[in-house]
Amino acid sequence: MIVVFKPDATPDQINQILTKAEQLGLKTNVSEGVERTIVGLIGPEEVLQVTPLEVFEGVERVIPVLAPYRLVSREYQADNSIVSLSDDVKIGGEQLHVMAGPCSIESLDGMDRIARQAREGGATILRGGAFKPRTSPYDFQGMGEEGLKILKDVGEKYGMATVTEVMDARDIDLICRYADMLQIGARNMQNFTLLKEVGKAKKPVLLKRGISATIKEWLMCAEYILANGNFNVVFCERGIRTYETATRNTLDINAVGVVKQLSHLPIIVDPSHATGRWGLVAPAARAAVAAGCDGLMIEVHDNPKEAFSDGGQSLVPEKFSALMQELRPIAQAVNRKL
Ligand code: PEP
Ligand code: MN
Repeated sequence: MIVVFKPDATPDQINQILTKAEQLGLKTNVSEGVERTIVGLIGPEEVLQVTPLEVFEGVERVIPVLAPYRLVSREYQADNSIVSLSDDVKIGGEQLHVMAGPCSIESLDGMDRIARQAREGGATILRGGAFKPRTSPYDFQGMGEEGLKILKDVGEKYGMATVTEVMDARDIDLICRYADMLQIGARNMQNFTLLKEVGKAKKPVLLKRGISATIKEWLMCAEYILANGNFNVVFCERGIRTYETATRNTLDINAVGVVKQLSHLPIIVDPSHATGRWGLVAPAARAAVAAGCDGLMIEVHDNPKEAFSDGGQSLVPEKFSALMQELRPIAQAVNRKL
């Protein structure tokens, strides 16, 4: 933490800060310039959350040195984390992993058909919502536990790990019995109660970026999960709301590089929700792999016209397989495997 004093700060005002720092158990390092004085404070910065130094007279600015997302940061861990969903599916290493499946789980037969084709195309993780966060309460809300059973059975049948959204902390135990990974949806990114509870769960968490969240806010949400004991977190950039209306959301491709710089945790990209249109999924997915993401989440449906949700952004299985082919040389060009 660095305290920058105003040019006209008096020695008394500077001494007040030095005394306060000493009381808080922080070491100080005073640097007197021609124009102004700067004081470096060394020690646990958390103590300053209770006593903000900005309120002292003579202080112009207080600059934190450590990231507030401690456990999530690269300072805490320099090496990339690998998040393991199963013996074969480990996110964050050389191998990229693609999560594919319908937006909502709709039926056993439908899920079976989609999973078989997604697996053939190269997906290693099966996705599908059983509890759906819909804008309208009159829209399909998901199959609930029946859907979870379908996800588990079909995932096992095709040797795929599974991921599904948890919207309510009361459902965590139930979902943990059926799925390999818990998805926190964009609308719940800052549901801190839910974050604390998945932090206590024993399954990896896919943390989607909030609709209007900054990267810092997103990292802080991951910090909630790690601080509660669960270090198996994967970020998912799924587009943010901007003034642009041509697409459902705006894919923030910068987020891949920024998160990689700031954190040791893996990051995947969801080009389906980021674009909202199936015809734009492929270019966004190509860009994401080139940018260095650790995987993708893509909505796939074999009859998008009849899909219960997000049909317009779902790829038919043939298009999904074609996209996977296109992505392989791109992955190779950035020293990854797919
Ligand atoms: C989803 O994955 O189907 C979903 C609802 O995603 P998001 O939370 O990113 O909108
Ligand atoms: Mn969806």
